[in-house]
Amino acid sequence: MEKYTDIAIIGGGASGLAAAVSAKDAQNARVEILEKYPRTGKKLLATGNGRCNLWNANASEDKFFGAGAFAKHALEAFDKDDFFASVGLEIRVQDNGLAYPMSNQASAVLDCLRFTCAEKGVSETTDFHVVKIEGKKGKFRITSENGDIVFAKRVVLATGSMAQPKLGGNNAFQTLLKPFGHSFTRCLPALSYLKTNPSDVSGLKGMKYQGEIALLLEGRQIACETGEILFSENGVSGIAAMQLSLYAAEPLSRGKKLCVRMSPLPMKKTDAEAFIGKRKSLFPERTLEELLTGAVVKRIAQAAFKRAGVSPLTRKAETLTRSEIRKIAGELTEWLCPVVAVGGFDVCQVMLGGAEASEFDEKTMESKLVPGLYAAGELMDVTGPCGGYNLTWAWASGALAGRSASDSL
Ligand SMILES: Cc1cc2nc3c(=O)[nH]c(=O)nc-3n(C[C@H](O)[C@H](O)[C@H](O)COP(=O)(O)OP(=O)(O)OC[C@H]3O[C@@H](n4cnc5c(N)ncnc54)[C@H](O)[C@@H]3O)c2cc1C
Repeated sequence: MEKYTDIAIIGGGASGLAAAVSAKDAQNARVEILEKYPRTGKKLLATGNGRCNLWNANASEDKFFGAGAFAKHALEAFDKDDFFASVGLEIRVQDNGLAYPMSNQASAVLDCLRFTCAEKGVSETTDFHVVKIEGKKGKFRITSENGDIVFAKRVVLATGSMAQPKLGGNNAFQTLLKPFGHSFTRCLPALSYLKTNPSDVSGLKGMKYQGEIALLLEGRQIACETGEILFSENGVSGIAAMQLSLYAAEPLSRGKKLCVRMSPLPMKKTDAEAFIGKRKSLFPERTLEELLTGAVVKRIAQAAFKRAGVSPLTRKAETLTRSEIRKIAGELTEWLCPVVAVGGFDVCQVMLGGAEASEFDEKTMESKLVPGLYAAGELMDVTGPCGGYNLTWAWASGALAGRSASDSL
């Protein structure tokens, strides 16, 4: 197969679809999405647990990791209300700035984008796994795994990141950009669980609580989050822990020692000592296993007793010594748990790092090394926290790249 188009968009994910819509809005050029899967938008369907947290009203450049400053122009230039109204998607914005489709369905986001692409005459070639881009502005030659070829005057690269290969994640951005001389910052999995030693969380799988979790780098606090803390057999998860992974990934990759400090009993250690002492005098006949029921999740409390070396749990509360109370209070308010890794690319939500942003023009997303080649989305070294930031970047950068490519024809 050989095809000709004005703008080839490689990757039919969030940024690629936004690029296609905006390219067509700018002028009626021929636009072709090349997608390796049989359908576009596979990852989009999995976002927000199927609800798609599609943007965040507070997504300014300072919220992003990596080349946040590079993102400023695209973020400011993107009129999200206008864009989503134009594709027919009704949106509900929560008080905290998180935006969801009114239907609460990620599939509605994808459908509205697909309908709009079809209405505007965007062509789509699926099962087209791009393995090579050659040529230059005006005549790029794009080759698929099967040997099919598309010639394009402009190319928008929107192949996403390495996060979650089963949803389309891969390192295509590296294999396709490297031959042109582009470079990359270190790429690491992020927005993932924090892996601990299994023995530290043994018996806690599925247990959760709401509270504060702090990340300590060699004893010094570098980040702190509040939210749901959820234990798995391998470590600590939940939104708060996932946010911390953005700060943990890089130091861990350099072999630094990290731990999290957790407080399943939400009070200061000295207050916790008084609290446990008071319960001891109120309920002297209760066993240690029963003593904190009503205040702390039972298995989390049991694990704290174990770490404090206070046993057996069948003992009566009245037998607790002052020093035992002090140790238990410490384990419940300042539990220091070493973090050994961040959950890998197979399970993470995003990639930290990516294509070196200084090699692209922030006003257009065009490569400074290869005129006519544009890039957008998560493949760039721009990563946001949980809360709709990453999709905000995907839409904004995709729309800018698509419009710029179209304007330049
Ligand atoms: C489980 C999960 C939940 C998430 N939830 C949210 C959320 O609620 N809110 C939020 O803001 N962010 C969320 N994210 C992050 C968000 O999904 C991504 O940041 C966003 O999808 C990135 O858009 P993109 O266009 O850069 O890449 P993608 O959406 O990954 O699209 C890239 C596309 O390129 C295709 N492709 C790749 N290589 C090739 C190739 N060689 N040839 C042709 N096509 C190719 C892929 O198949 C894919 O369709 C979530 C991520 C995950 C994994």
